[in-house]
Amino acid sequence: MGKVFNFLTFVSLSSVLISLLSSLEIGLITCILLLSLWIIYQSFQQVRLLQWLKNSYKTNPVTHGTWASIYSSINFLLRKNESQKNRLNNKLMAFKRATEAMEDGILIIDNDNQIIAITPRAEGYLGINQKQDFGSNILNHIRHPSFAEYLLSGSLNETIIVEDLSLDKKALEFKLIPFDSNQKIVLCRDVTKLRKLEIEKKDFVASASHELKTPLTVINGYLETVTEMDVSKAEKKRMLVEMTVQTKLMTNLIDDLLLFSKLEKVKPSNDAEQVNVSLMVNELSELSNKIDKNNHLIKFDIEKNIFITCCGEQLRSAFWNLINNAIIYTKKGGKITIRWLKTKEDEAVFEVRDDGPGIEAHHIDKLTDRFYRVDSARSRERGGTGLGLSIVNEIVQRHGAFLKIESQPNVGSKFIIFFPSLTTDVSKKVK
Ligand code: ADP
Repeated sequence: MGKVFNFLTFVSLSSVLISLLSSLEIGLITCILLLSLWIIYQSFQQVRLLQWLKNSYKTNPVTHGTWASIYSSINFLLRKNESQKNRLNNKLMAFKRATEAMEDGILIIDNDNQIIAITPRAEGYLGINQKQDFGSNILNHIRHPSFAEYLLSGSLNETIIVEDLSLDKKALEFKLIPFDSNQKIVLCRDVTKLRKLEIEKKDFVASASHELKTPLTVINGYLETVTEMDVSKAEKKRMLVEMTVQTKLMTNLIDDLLLFSKLEKVKPSNDAEQVNVSLMVNELSELSNKIDKNNHLIKFDIEKNIFITCCGEQLRSAFWNLINNAIIYTKKGGKITIRWLKTKEDEAVFEVRDDGPGIEAHHIDKLTDRFYRVDSARSRERGGTGLGLSIVNEIVQRHGAFLKIESQPNVGSKFIIFFPSLTTDVSKKVK
């Protein structure tokens, strides 16, 4: 304002001076001329400012005085606005990344159940496309009566599991949360694995009960016969022997079930330590010779000082299971070879080979299933629970290792455990 006042003072004074020196008319004409020039200059600057604003504030035009101050003030405001926009944008991006990282998918729907917003995770779970399906009804995408009932019942804050959704038969858990006066948040989570585990657990309990019931029924039957009927001494002895076999089977079953539950409780990393597995296999060679009592030709081939980061107790149990199976299933006089070595690829390998009866190809993939037996009657006779190989497989997987079974009927079987190079360490020698 000061500069405008100065200019107007200058125009007035120069007009008065010219009027005094020449005539009043010339003074007035000079005054009008100077004012016109000033108005033209201001209009030109205004047009330049508009142009500059339209052209997204590219380089500042060269200006002086008041106009220079106007440009620098606008620049200052623009920079402030830009940094606020950037900060807001960064916050929005961080929020978007956080919602994307969440296991839960999030949808926002309005009172008419139309989709207003959806996170990429929910898009994946429900096969919805943000752009295409924006504004569509959620019930068109989740076509399951139980979900429709849940949505319309208004039982908000409760959860519902919808199974067999989409082509890949996913199970999703939904939770509705009221949000604003006319919107709802729909949280969805993939619970397919969890449901599968629950079903497996129920099946496992049912199978375990059935397995325990079989020997109990046999024992009960014999006990009833002995108490209610006249039985010869020889017959009684036979029954007692049979009852002992069934009791042994039940004990083995309970031992294996306890081992399973122990495995589930303990994370392998909790018990992991550097173990000289070569020494452990050496101990197992002594144990197998004691148990086998020269019924088979057992040969051990053990490479010294192979260390593994593992749970020693679990690994011992897995190795012994394979050796014991070879002893049990191979006929008297058969040959069993046990090897513990390191390959060129730095893998540690435990191998049990026998020339026993072998296993037909169609059984191989199922051998590690719980309670799977090739010949149920023969396995039970020997106190077999059908859990041995599933325990071995569980332990092997917990150690990041891999169990391979090769077998041919009437030729023999080979059970091999491969430990990846990361878990082995031969640099640590025994003192
Ligand atoms: P089990 O307690 O019945 O031995 P496993 O899980 O250890 O249960 O073994 C499953 C089945 O695999 C056994 O019933 C048996 O038929 C077969 N099997 C295991 N090891 C051998 C082997 N070395 N030779 C032949 N068959 C075997």
